[in-house]
Amino acid sequence: MEHCFDIEPMNQWMPCGDKPCVIAGPCSAESEEQVMETARELAKIPMVKVFRAGLWKPRTRPSTFEGVGDEGLNWLVRVKQETGLKITTEVANPSHVEKALKAGIDMVWLGARTVVNPFSVQEIGEALKGSHIPVMVKNPLNPDLTTWMGALERINRSGVKKLAAIHRGFSYYKHSPYRNDPMWEIPIELKRLCPELPVIVDPSHICGRVDLLSVISQRAIDLEMNGLMIETHIRPKEALTDKQQQITPEVLASLLSGLIFRKPVGSTEFQNQLEKLRSEIDKIDQQLIDIIAQRMSIVDQIGNYKKENKITILQLKRWNQIFSERVENGEQLGLPREFIMKLLEVVHEESIQRQIDVMNKKD
Ligand code: PEP
Ligand code: MN
Repeated sequence: MEHCFDIEPMNQWMPCGDKPCVIAGPCSAESEEQVMETARELAKIPMVKVFRAGLWKPRTRPSTFEGVGDEGLNWLVRVKQETGLKITTEVANPSHVEKALKAGIDMVWLGARTVVNPFSVQEIGEALKGSHIPVMVKNPLNPDLTTWMGALERINRSGVKKLAAIHRGFSYYKHSPYRNDPMWEIPIELKRLCPELPVIVDPSHICGRVDLLSVISQRAIDLEMNGLMIETHIRPKEALTDKQQQITPEVLASLLSGLIFRKPVGSTEFQNQLEKLRSEIDKIDQQLIDIIAQRMSIVDQIGNYKKENKITILQLKRWNQIFSERVENGEQLGLPREFIMKLLEVVHEESIQRQIDVMNKKD
């Protein structure tokens, strides 16, 4: 198979052994003390090999904390000296690259907001020329594999051979439990097209909350992704950015020790196909729930209307008509009668209940 990228295998530049690599550290460096305390605890977790912290924070709103900037470079260097962890930060323009290289940062990443813009990626690529620093490229905010691959190619063509992708989920207009929908089919397609490229998963920015982190981390492991980047703060409640999604080093240690490293069942091809189908099912279920919610909101309107006009809730004639029509529709699509009947009964029962609630509600 033809390769997309000219790269060095990740085990030559990431000190990970055969387990997935774990990158951890705060969303933002906030003070020397917060950085050092977090790093000292993280260094005690064997799977954690790289310390992350954002210095220049491209925030959505300009009035919020925008990072400590250049000053934080020294704190990261101190982390490296005192703990032996490798250090990484986000670069968003050529001047960040220059400063990171000068300070001795071990690896850098491009953030989701930078990757959407090929001009910025090109400029960063130019600034990286001639250096041997490893670079990780996050997916763009929008679910667009071509833009992601384009950014990886630009960086690769600037001579960066120590290259990885970071999957941090995608903005999605529909309601979803995630801050950024994982849309696993996209990183899977990237891996299918470019099997040589390591993909690190960032469950923190996918989830945006802490209770889903372990499920997404396990998913990443099961999909044979090559590493995890998890935001970790010594006092998450006091975090100045991404407060809801950061965990303590202690919680991270227990999350990592709970991960199960299964032997892959079947080939990677089989797993990938299975995962594609599963993610289609996930989407359809979401649509199903959306549609049912829409139906119920119309039921509420009908309930109000009946109430205003003093009409009874249960209109047997209408219900019999719905019942027979829908069962027939379903049968035509290969769905058994009994199944459709059961489904309609549950939906109807809830509709009746909602109308009773509307009737009982005092105006
Ligand atoms: C981050 O890693 O803190 C960050 C800003 O991430 P992203 O670019 O994925 O939003
Ligand atoms: Mn963050």
